[in-house]
Amino acid sequence: LPEQEAFDIEYWLLEEAKLQRMPKPKSLAGRVALVTGGAGGIGSATAERYLSEGACVMLADINPDSLTATEGVLTQQFGEDAVCTVLMDVTDENAVAQALAETSVEFGGIDILVSNAGIASSAPVEETSLDLWNKNMDILSTGYFLVSRETFKIMRVQDMGGSIVFVASKNGLAASPNASAYCTAKASEIHLARCLALEGSEAGIRVNVVNPDAVLRGSKIWEGDWLDQRASTYGTDKEGLEEMYRNRSMLKRSVLPEDIAEACYFFAAEASAKSTGNILNVDAGNVQAFTR
Ligand code: NAD
Repeated sequence: LPEQEAFDIEYWLLEEAKLQRMPKPKSLAGRVALVTGGAGGIGSATAERYLSEGACVMLADINPDSLTATEGVLTQQFGEDAVCTVLMDVTDENAVAQALAETSVEFGGIDILVSNAGIASSAPVEETSLDLWNKNMDILSTGYFLVSRETFKIMRVQDMGGSIVFVASKNGLAASPNASAYCTAKASEIHLARCLALEGSEAGIRVNVVNPDAVLRGSKIWEGDWLDQRASTYGTDKEGLEEMYRNRSMLKRSVLPEDIAEACYFFAAEASAKSTGNILNVDAGNVQAFTR
């Protein structure tokens, strides 16, 4: 090659290499996400994932102490401007409307909702009181409805589409022993997501579901009554339960909050632009495996 031409080629390669080394723009930069149950294990992991991609996040939760603690950790990492908190009970219609309005005012709108606030309960059906049944329906089924309804209102006014992610449960697809109220409420979340996906489609509002298998580490659900009840149902302790779930799964791996956060990120990101009304089981292959 003539000397000048060889130099041009090398210069071109250098420019290419430089482009590859430049920091990529963050995929959720400029987006606003509301995460209910944001002070819990899965909620805070999801908030962290979104923040790492440049989103601003409003953490909404009923537990003030956990909210303050989570906010402290996340603001240290991502700065005060990116994280806010709001006390909110998802079963309280007015509180939900107010929290959503606050989020819009604070950050200028809402692009992503992660409906995740929840509980778990276990009792044989004969011992399931109407109160326990209603509690599951109120927090899980009605709570997901109320937060979605207010989010729809805001997203429609914004007219920029949006993404709603429901953290439901594999127990919304498959029965689990002594948990009829919880399983039925989770199943209703999944069907609500399908209905909302259809309703939101023309406005570009996507609604998808992430179904975790048991996530024992980091989750407060697995520190209280649910742990005792599950332990007595299966005759083992927390470590034994984690091992049991791992061994039942095809991949023989435990599911962690970060795994659920990654699925929630997928449904918020451009990569899932053509997915709505879908369910992603993050279960290491448990739902489809007959290994009971
Ligand atoms: P977690 O207890 O760590 O977090 C749940 C959060 O929801 C808590 O911070 C709690 O204060 C909040 N919350 C409860 N009731 C509320 C209400 N009425 N209003 C507002 N906030 C409320 O539990 P997690 O494991 O992070 O669970 C998150 C979601 O994942 C829940 O919907 C749960 O049912 C679902 N899920 C969890 C598992 C698991 O094994 N951890 C498995 C499947 C599905």
